[in-house]
Amino acid sequence: MAELTLGNVTKRFDDVVAVDDVSIEIDDGEFLVLVGPSGCGKSTTLRMIAGLETISDGRIAIDGDVVNDAPAQQRDIAMVFQSYALYPHMTVRENMRFGLEESTTLEKAEMDSRVEDAAETLEIDDLLERKPGELSGGQQQRVALGRAIVRDPAVFLMDEPLSNLDAKLRSGMRTELQRLQEELGVTTVYVTHDQTEAMTMSDRIAILDGGELQQVATPLECYHRPTNRFVAGFIGEPSMNFFDVSLEDGRLVDSDIEFEYPLSSVVRDSVGETTELVLGIRPEDVELLDARETAHDFPVVVDVVEPMGNENNLLVRFPDTDTESTFNVIVDGMCHVEAGKRYVIRIPESAIHVFDRETGAALH
Ligand code: ATP
Repeated sequence: MAELTLGNVTKRFDDVVAVDDVSIEIDDGEFLVLVGPSGCGKSTTLRMIAGLETISDGRIAIDGDVVNDAPAQQRDIAMVFQSYALYPHMTVRENMRFGLEESTTLEKAEMDSRVEDAAETLEIDDLLERKPGELSGGQQQRVALGRAIVRDPAVFLMDEPLSNLDAKLRSGMRTELQRLQEELGVTTVYVTHDQTEAMTMSDRIAILDGGELQQVATPLECYHRPTNRFVAGFIGEPSMNFFDVSLEDGRLVDSDIEFEYPLSSVVRDSVGETTELVLGIRPEDVELLDARETAHDFPVVVDVVEPMGNENNLLVRFPDTDTESTFNVIVDGMCHVEAGKRYVIRIPESAIHVFDRETGAALH
């Protein structure tokens, strides 16, 4: 068990800055998920922690010891890859033991018992004599996990370990991995681009974009209090809706669609003097009502209704305007909504987000 520190870590590949001055303190036993779009620097960050990539600047420390120059084998870290990386000619038992073979301190009996304990924890004890080719994808993934567990490392690093599994298996393995990590209490850094994994498995999420750290916080904080427009759009599915608006006399105004939204003094105070803004509202926070216009409700037309069972995903637009753009609204699955019909939407002030249009910073 260990604390893991990334202090101003930077990685340059010639003129590409893959990771740009990233600092994160990961607590002992914490499950941290690194997320972000393709190319944002997730894998490079993980590979630097593992010692598979050199660091251009900054420091990485495990329990206070700087490991920048320590070779991968000396870092007390076990990594699980997307590809499983199992040896096809070895049995499950041999694959799991392999990482222990080079240990000079472990007795053979101790190695055997670690393999058997891990196999039992992962419920693959009846597969120990099989070869990887005789296993399903999910079983192979367990063997790959088993190989990491037997080493009893200070830190687990996982690079999209579930992405080769089908959706149902993935969801089962998510819960299992989370339970396992909690049980073992090993500090874990888990890379994914799947935000459901990020939201459901992590103690905290670290969100990267263009090599820069955008926010490190609990899943709920990222969802409710994103630090900027990027995080707000990245966390949540379907994404938050954004509207370019101006602040005029205490109201948010989009003159193209004659949209006016009066702000309470609390929101006005947090928005301050900036006038070029972006209004953000999550699809699940928009209320859809039968058409009846009042001062604060906006007429809309529902273009598309996607019934998902528990909820309906709607694509909605403002009618009688030049704007063609649509936005997302989610309503309860029991709510009957007709495509082509007019409704009104209501946007509760408690659910709005306001961003500086130029910097993207969250103002409210
Ligand atoms: P993905 O989700 O697609 O795996 P990622 O977030 O893991 O992406 P990285 O693989 O860390 O992203 O890559 C970050 C940036 O660094 C990208 O622009 C990538 O092209 C660049 N990069 C990564 N490895 C190298 C390399 N060995 N040489 C040059 N550039 C690299």
